[in-house]
Amino acid sequence: MLKKEKSLTIILSFIILAALLYVIFFLNKFTIPTSSSNINPKNGVLNLTTWDSDKDGYTDLSGQWKFYWNQLLTPKDFSTTSYAPTYMDMPIALNKHNKNYDANGYATYRLIINLNSKYKNTLLGLSVPSMLSSYKLWVNGKLLSSNGIVGTSILSSPKSMPTTSYFMNNNKVINLVLQVSNYNLKAGGTKSQIYLGTQNQIMNNRDASIALDFLYFGILLIVGLYSLWLYIFTTEEISKLYFSCLCMTMSLRSLVIGNKYFLSLYANINYTLESKLQFLTFYLAVYFIISFMFVTFKESSSKIINKICKSFCLFFIAATILSSLLFASKLFLIFKLSSMLFIVYATYIIFKAYRNQNQKFIIIIVAFFSTIIISVMSMLYSMGINNINDYSLLVFFIFILINSFILAMNQSKAYKKIENLSKQKEQYCLNEKLRKATFLLNSTLNLDEVLEKLLKSLKQIIPYDSASFFMEENNQFSIRAGYGFKNMDVLCKIRVNKDKDLLFKEIYETYTTLLVTNVKEDNRFNHYINLTNIESWLGVPIIFNNKIIGILTLDSNKKNIYTKDHCDTALSFAFNAGVAVENAKLHSKTKQLACIDPLTSLYNRRSFFELANKSFDKAKLSVQPISSIMIDIDDFKKINDSLGHHTGDLVLKRLSKICSQNLGENNILGRFGGEEFIVLLPGTSFKQAEIVGEHLRLAIENNPLIIRKSDLIPITSSLGVASITPTTEDLEYLFTSADKAMYQAKAMGKNKVMSINLDLRIQKKHEEIRNTLQSSPKLEI
Ligand code: GH3
Ligand code: MG
Ligand code: MG
Repeated sequence: MLKKEKSLTIILSFIILAALLYVIFFLNKFTIPTSSSNINPKNGVLNLTTWDSDKDGYTDLSGQWKFYWNQLLTPKDFSTTSYAPTYMDMPIALNKHNKNYDANGYATYRLIINLNSKYKNTLLGLSVPSMLSSYKLWVNGKLLSSNGIVGTSILSSPKSMPTTSYFMNNNKVINLVLQVSNYNLKAGGTKSQIYLGTQNQIMNNRDASIALDFLYFGILLIVGLYSLWLYIFTTEEISKLYFSCLCMTMSLRSLVIGNKYFLSLYANINYTLESKLQFLTFYLAVYFIISFMFVTFKESSSKIINKICKSFCLFFIAATILSSLLFASKLFLIFKLSSMLFIVYATYIIFKAYRNQNQKFIIIIVAFFSTIIISVMSMLYSMGINNINDYSLLVFFIFILINSFILAMNQSKAYKKIENLSKQKEQYCLNEKLRKATFLLNSTLNLDEVLEKLLKSLKQIIPYDSASFFMEENNQFSIRAGYGFKNMDVLCKIRVNKDKDLLFKEIYETYTTLLVTNVKEDNRFNHYINLTNIESWLGVPIIFNNKIIGILTLDSNKKNIYTKDHCDTALSFAFNAGVAVENAKLHSKTKQLACIDPLTSLYNRRSFFELANKSFDKAKLSVQPISSIMIDIDDFKKINDSLGHHTGDLVLKRLSKICSQNLGENNILGRFGGEEFIVLLPGTSFKQAEIVGEHLRLAIENNPLIIRKSDLIPITSSLGVASITPTTEDLEYLFTSADKAMYQAKAMGKNKVMSINLDLRIQKKHEEIRNTLQSSPKLEI
């Protein structure tokens, strides 16, 4: 990714995150009444004549309601009889208000609301959250909403779904009658505030809180799953597992508290199950928070307390599953009170960890603190001590956000570490391969072998389908070695001019590797035929002593296979290869100097005999005839004497060239000494050798040395041919015989070819021996 693109994407992602947070806070705002009127009911009457729904928003109905203990009264009852009321604060659990009231029992609440006349004939709405009791609510004599069955005995069945109901307000006065009964929970009465607003306001409130619940559910679930996958697939860090479980538990909890929209889809949802789910998700969340916290602040926390806390949670979980709802709700209150102790201990741990000051801990500490504050607030709320809304999910969401940030930060650090380690390992492996390749390259001084090994070892380092080594000679490059080609003979004829070929020119100018990722679309390859399969190409200069001595080309049938890393690797390989190639070249040059006669460029006497011996051994094995020709320039002394030694040298050179040109590749030509030359013709019969000798003599005679355009210096030579089929006789015998034949040619008047068939001679000799043996008298014993 480009740098600009990267920063743009980061900015965009932050904008998106900000937008998301805005949505969450906006939705959250909808769920909170914006009432600025602070008008509360007194003595069962709420005066809302100054209330303006547009300005003040929807309003809660908390305050003093008329209260009738142990009576279930309907609006009809009130119209016929007058009952003496007591007064009760709304919302509050009954037993909290007055010790005389039992949490388990039944009662009626009543409230009269005086409205501004502009709300006459308007659609209004009432939002009743889940209560601690079953209830029935009448508005102006009509039953508006109910939850569960209100009754005077334990048989009355409870339900705790929040409801929103709408009604047409025909009067200036709203008459509310609320019956409640509770036999299932530890606390009875009312728990949350009832809201009154216009239909739109109440509808928006309900939609926003449902949307929020699902948003929390989704985000918590995804973060939980992501942490779980991280735990399973990447590290075995147990804190990730606890964090994941915590998120998933909270995700589930978001469905069973608040609006319970999801549960409301099940018409016959069991109240016991629904309430127990609330308790259980709470216990589980605390269990996982404890586990997560103790793992995160391992050094500052005590193992025993950790175990006690966890066992405490597990006990409550088991007890809730097994006991009745009433008992479970009592346990829930006990648990909430006891978790205050945990909060105190958690605060202590955090302070302790803070003293051990670890920079990265600060974020975690902030996250934990905010969670603790929220836990306290939520607990106070559920105990009815404060009247602030339940923000536990919102703050938990912020906690998750901070934690996922820490998680990503740690993860990225771990990735970077792994990336560095794997890079180091890769580099080490590469160095090892390069070292091995260099060792292999230096294991021989034969240039062809060096080049063969070079291409083979390179294949272990950089992938290729075919590769060639171009050797530089007088500004021209020709292929000296290849790998992966079918038609090497054709390729060997290719000559590349470094000034004309654009690829080679660029390598020459830049002194670095040239990478072509898409050969087919590169014009520089247009003049190359037979490259139909090549898709990627890499040209590597082989540098020695700051000079390009060759170019290595790698071809691949795959597109975009080569990267910058390959270029770097190839270049370091090329430096080692350059040394090995140059060493081999130097070696072959030295060897050449020791074997080649500097004047004629023919083999000198020593190397000629070396090669001749090898050839003779081969001929011996295959029982092939072998011949030799001795050549001596006629009257060479005279040339020297009359035209000088320099011209004499030119004559020697001329003759060498003529002989080389007229002899086959198989034949070995050497300077025997002075103006004498010697030829070995393996696999050549006596007859063929005589023809070759005559051919040479004629060629020498017909090619005089021309000096200064017009001066012709005729050259003639005397040649002696000898031939043998190697069996018992040796090479020296062949050469002495050829020498003898040459002297015979001199004696016969020079410019002649004389020959000796040693095979015939040997046969004759054998016959003579046999004859003498036969004619001699036999020895008598
Ligand atoms: P013949 O026809 O009987 O072979 O007579 P020739 O003169 O060719 O033979 P001879 O052996 O009398 O002379 C050979 C001469 O070659 C003697 C020597 O000075 C000369 N010679 C030997 N090596 C070289 C050389 O490297 N360069 C030159 N210019 N002359 C050489
Ligand atoms: Mg001679
Ligand atoms: Mg001579």
